[in-house]
Amino acid sequence: MNKKWEIIIGLEVHVQLATASKLFSGSATAYGRKQNSQACIIDLGFPGVLPTLNAEAIRLAIKLGLAINGKIAEQTSFARKNYFYPDLPKGYQISQHQDPIIKDGYLNIDLDAKDDAIDAIKTIHITHAHLEEDAGKLMHENFHGFSGIDFNRAGIPLIEIVSAPDLRSAREAVIYLKTLHNLVRYLGISDGNMQEGSFRCDANVSVRKCGAQELGTRTEIKNLNSFRFIERAIEFEAARQISVLESRNKIIQETRLYDAEKNETRAMRSKEESLDYRYFPDPDLLPLVLEKEYVEEIRSTLPELPWEKCARFHTQYELSKYDANILSANLKMAKYFEETAENTNASAKTAANWIIVELLGALNKYDSEISASPISAKQLAELLDKIHDQTISGKIAKEVFFSMFNGEGTAMEIIEKNGLKQITDDNVLTKIIDDILAANQNAVKNYQAGKTQLFGFFVGQVMQVTGGKASPKQVNELLKNKLG
Ligand code: MN
Repeated sequence: MNKKWEIIIGLEVHVQLATASKLFSGSATAYGRKQNSQACIIDLGFPGVLPTLNAEAIRLAIKLGLAINGKIAEQTSFARKNYFYPDLPKGYQISQHQDPIIKDGYLNIDLDAKDDAIDAIKTIHITHAHLEEDAGKLMHENFHGFSGIDFNRAGIPLIEIVSAPDLRSAREAVIYLKTLHNLVRYLGISDGNMQEGSFRCDANVSVRKCGAQELGTRTEIKNLNSFRFIERAIEFEAARQISVLESRNKIIQETRLYDAEKNETRAMRSKEESLDYRYFPDPDLLPLVLEKEYVEEIRSTLPELPWEKCARFHTQYELSKYDANILSANLKMAKYFEETAENTNASAKTAANWIIVELLGALNKYDSEISASPISAKQLAELLDKIHDQTISGKIAKEVFFSMFNGEGTAMEIIEKNGLKQITDDNVLTKIIDDILAANQNAVKNYQAGKTQLFGFFVGQVMQVTGGKASPKQVNELLKNKLG
């Protein structure tokens, strides 16, 4: 990127809260059901209906607020955001305006997870997070020239998390989003499913000359729902703005759409100012008072947070920061690691290595995830025990691992079926070594005359004769004794 220009990014993330029913009605929120089968008269905005606030949505929002060290409002209220669009049956969206449920939080992001240095941590401020209802979904295909509307989404609870313009590159934006995405799943407040729209992002992007104080005019890229698209969209948009400014034209404040196929952003509509929405308090909903005891009770239900787990893995299991990061990257991964470590006599470090190098390596090949691992944590622990108690060598263990991965049985079954047990009997090994030395007397003479690099040759011979099953440690000791 151009060195003369600084890129400024702020993100608005819409996270769908994992409630069974909608924010203001009893309609179900399950994804992928028949169109308009989960929309009642409240969601459709029939005259005379009244919204009833979903308490679970409030609880989940507060959980997030506490996890990001935000201020939980003592009193919060709902407002009507007025605009016309066919997917918005009431002509307004119930949102929050003056007193959002969460203010002034922050998220620490790690710009270099591989490095143990602490100075790679950057704090991203979260200006506020507010509750609002989702709109319906317009469907333009298969309607013979007409458009259809599915209102199953209308009224689904969202929390919109608004960051300060603290991000300085597309890469930083993606790291922030991944950190937030991981957090909401750890908290269990959202499934975070991006394909299904449970986690989507609007990016506010502007550029300014390095050293300038004032912010440049920004554009907003709407509805990005994959980390890769977000990164590309921001990179494209920043480069576009720089080239506009360098040819002495002006940036127009507007909403833009990212076209993934063409990898470009296009103007969608000129940006509304907040005034255009004519916000006013929703007279159907009373202000909500959140008592301290209620908030503290929710605090007591917070799980171990991702960064807490990562720090604990680092200290309790003496893992490197890099390993601890990978193994705490999501709850399933963390659980798999801890279950393996708890069930084996091998060290946690060994368990971590096998999971990261062998298991994740094998899963990656099939584009698969830890939750679909054909080897359970307990089964992997058994394999590690067989190395630990020297039933098999580390090298043979890799073969056993791949057989397990291919569903050929447990570690012990595979070891027995294929006769892979390590040879640890000194008498057996001594006999094999004697035969080899007798058959290679020249090499023995050369070794004893000072060509000590021949040691590896003898080890290799033993391994060849035993099919790799000789205990390497014992072979080394026995050979050293024999050769003097
Ligand atoms: Mn919104």
